[in-house]
Amino acid sequence: MLVVKFGGTSVGKPERMKKIAHLVMSMPGKKIVVLSALSGTTNALVRIGENLLAQQHTAANNEISELEKHYLQFIKELYSSESYKAVGEEIVSRYFSLFRLLAAGKFDDRGYRELLAQGELISTELFYHHLQEIKTPVRLLPALHFMSIDENNEPELEKISERLKPILETMNNVDILVTQGYICRNHRNEIDNLKRGGSDYTASLIGAAIRAEEIQIWTDIDGMHNNDPRIVKKTMPIAELTFDEASELAYFGAKILHPSTIVPAQKYHVPVILKNTMDEKALGTIISDKGSRGQFKAVAAKDGITAIKIKSSRMLLAYGFLRRVFEVFERYKTPIDMISTSEVAVSVTIDENKNLAKILEELNLFGTIEVDDNQSIICIVGNMLSEKEGVLKEVFQSLANIPIRMVSYGGSPNNISILVSTSQKDKALNLLNEGLFNL
Ligand code: ADP
Ligand code: ASP
Ligand code: MG
Repeated sequence: MLVVKFGGTSVGKPERMKKIAHLVMSMPGKKIVVLSALSGTTNALVRIGENLLAQQHTAANNEISELEKHYLQFIKELYSSESYKAVGEEIVSRYFSLFRLLAAGKFDDRGYRELLAQGELISTELFYHHLQEIKTPVRLLPALHFMSIDENNEPELEKISERLKPILETMNNVDILVTQGYICRNHRNEIDNLKRGGSDYTASLIGAAIRAEEIQIWTDIDGMHNNDPRIVKKTMPIAELTFDEASELAYFGAKILHPSTIVPAQKYHVPVILKNTMDEKALGTIISDKGSRGQFKAVAAKDGITAIKIKSSRMLLAYGFLRRVFEVFERYKTPIDMISTSEVAVSVTIDENKNLAKILEELNLFGTIEVDDNQSIICIVGNMLSEKEGVLKEVFQSLANIPIRMVSYGGSPNNISILVSTSQKDKALNLLNEGLFNL
């Protein structure tokens, strides 16, 4: 079985939705099709939700009406016959009545998450009826019946797998099953989501849960590029990446993949293929266990990083000190990304500032604390980079004029991480493009 995921831009226009219908129909065998919301929808739902939480009802209702116009136009172009146009109108009217109902009631975080989920629910329903109109056998596979996260917001892969088995058995007479990306239920059985960009993660979780042959992620670019195409002009697609390399790139900011996408696929060795809906023939990127060693593959950057330095001449060398420092971050469920130590100080970085004040209060007991916010981690990735001669020389030569706050090398054989001020990020990515890739 294949799992094929299409992102927002791939379904964002009626002609694109029709195009992917043909693409899916041309794929041999059984497939689970994971869809995102139409491009722009989740952003609009976020704005509506934020307005409602802030009691800005007029702004929220105006946004709902704008979005409704967009959907009414969309269904006019998506469906050909009058009867299917009527089906489309019924769908749009049902969803927008719900939005207005949610907006009129007591709106809280739970309502907000329910609202966010509607983007994927409506896109899959529209697509399902499009396939019906063109007489293609298809079934809807409701993500809220099997996709779940636990109290730590971690997906429950085993449970997802167990729930999917009997559902898939009842649907084994059809080749195309359509499901929603991004949405799930939490441990309180409420509607929740896998965070922004989460449809990639859904595809990988399903792929791992059913031990699929392959997970295909179709988007608006021809695979993972060697650098961020939004910031660097000349970038090139990478034909092959190992799971470890792709995982580091996704985690450290390559927007093409949700940060956790690779984890479930890697666990069950299911290859992940990145493909371009706008250029189906382009090779894209294959992510698997295989890959060439000892060369730079790509760089990515993650913003919103805070660096914390704890200076303590008395305690740093004492055993148990680092454990106590880490325990503070653990208590506040705040993951650490980078670490570097010296005889008198340790620096760590975090990307989640929610509990920063409380963390700092506790760290203050250990010594002097310095905090730098607005930092970016630049992550340079390759397979077994540690086997390549002069890697650090090449990196530092490229970044000769950039002030570097922290460096982490040797933690994994795939990655060199460098912390710079976010104001230096664009320049650093461009310099690395020239220095490491001659582009
Ligand atoms: P989708 O809506 O299909 O999920 P996204 O917008 O989430 O698509 O991801 C695709 C975008 O990721 C590309 O258009 C590109 O601008 C951006 N991107 C950032 N870094 C990279 C990279 N290293 N390689 C490819 N695309 C990248
Ligand atoms: N629609 C969701 C978002 O915009 C999930 C996704 O597209 O992957 O974040
Ligand atoms: Mg995405």
